[in-house]
Order: sequence, then structure tokens, then C-alpha cells
Amino acid sequence: MSGDELKAHLEFFRELGVDGIRREPLWRSRAEMPAASPAPEAPQANAQPKQSNDTRIISLTAIREDLGDCTRCKLHTLGRKQIVFGVGNPNADLMFVGEAPGADEDIQGEPFVGRAGQLLTKIIEAIDLKREDVYIANLIKCRPPGNRNPEPDEAEQCEPFLFQQIDSIKPKVIVALGKFAAQALLRTTEPITRIRGREFKYRDAILMPTYHPAYLLRTPSAKREVWEDMKRVRELLRESAD
Ligand code: URA
Repeated sequence: MSGDELKAHLEFFRELGVDGIRREPLWRSRAEMPAASPAPEAPQANAQPKQSNDTRIISLTAIREDLGDCTRCKLHTLGRKQIVFGVGNPNADLMFVGEAPGADEDIQGEPFVGRAGQLLTKIIEAIDLKREDVYIANLIKCRPPGNRNPEPDEAEQCEPFLFQQIDSIKPKVIVALGKFAAQALLRTTEPITRIRGREFKYRDAILMPTYHPAYLLRTPSAKREVWEDMKRVRELLRESAD
């Protein structure tokens, strides 16, 4: 590891609240990058030109209007305070997709604003971006009661709106946060431990699953793998800008 890489590595851990580096071999060995499946492809240089910022905002606005005061699934009867649509740059090259709003998000109307969200913000900053540079959304737009997992009928009703958001923003890279988002987007039942860090062609983007920030709060040792994933995401963004 070069001096610069080591510095970035240490900075990431410091930012994310890890005080020291363990001496166990697991921490010293480098996580093996699993083979991409299906094969990764650099974002097409000749891909559709991005729309102007204004068109994109209109399009996201239209999607939000279509969603309305949604009553398509039972979550509207189960105590949700508001719909949590998404936040960020409508022209973002990088998009994060989580599972569903929690209590804080339900109150504030913005995804990832609670403890997990604060960690996500640090993760974004660790790859030299700001929260405002990226777009953040969830698969499910309403809070499931008691933070239970979303149910299949809820996902089925809600996910078309996420797909429209993706098609409007046209990010180059999508990071699926955690098992639920990754499995739903990729239509797979493979465990997150098997798919994290891999690169999948997804619509016009490269999708990379990684661990959910809430999992990192419970399992700080997994930050190491997320750092590996995020470095690759930064590389993909740089390659796509060339
Ligand atoms: N967890 C999620 O998956 N999404 C949020 O918006 C907050 C927590």
C-alpha cells in the first residue's frame, strides 16, 4: 500500500469513528475482490447524453407528483407520517439506494438522516464527495411500522417509482445499501456477503452492493470491506469521467 493509500485508509477509519487498527490477521489481509458477475462494463462513453439539470428536476418532480399522497399499499394505514421520496443532485453520477425510511426519516421527510444516515454522509465524504453531490433514495418510500422489513406487496407497489428515479437521474454508479436493496434491485436471493463488492450492469449504470450503514454501526469491523467497495466506486466514477 502506498503512503497516500495508507493515509486515505486511516482517514476513512478516523472519519468513521474507528480509533485504532487491529493486529488480527483478518485486518491485515486484503479483502479479495470477487469476480464481477455478470462481467462489469465501463459505463458507455457513447451512452445517452445526460439531460439538462432542469429537465431532470422536472422529471423527478413529475415522478413525485405521480406518487402523490400514496395509498397504493398498506403502509399508508400503518402510521407513516410522510412519504420520503429522495434527496440530492438530480444530475448525480452516484446514487445510493437504501431499504426504507426509519423513524428519523419519517419525521424529517429525508432519507438517511438518522445515525445510519450520518455514517452514510461520512462514507460519501471519505471518497471526496459531498452529500449534495449524490442522490439518495430508498426502495420503499414509507416507514414500515416498528422498523420491520418491508413486505413483498409493499416493495412491488413502490419499486417502480425508484426505477423511474434511476431512469431520470441516470447515475453512472449505484450503490445498493444492504441486503434488502441489493437483492430487490438485482432480483436475487444471494446473501449480501456473497454479492457485496461485486459489480453488476444495471440499467445504464454499474451497481455495487455494499453493507448497510446500520449494519456497520452494529459491526464496525465491516467498515473495512465498505472502504474497499467505496474506493472501487471512486475509481469507477473517475474512469467514467475520462
Ligand atoms: N435506512 C434505510 O435503509 N433508509 C433510510 O432512509 C434510513 C435508514
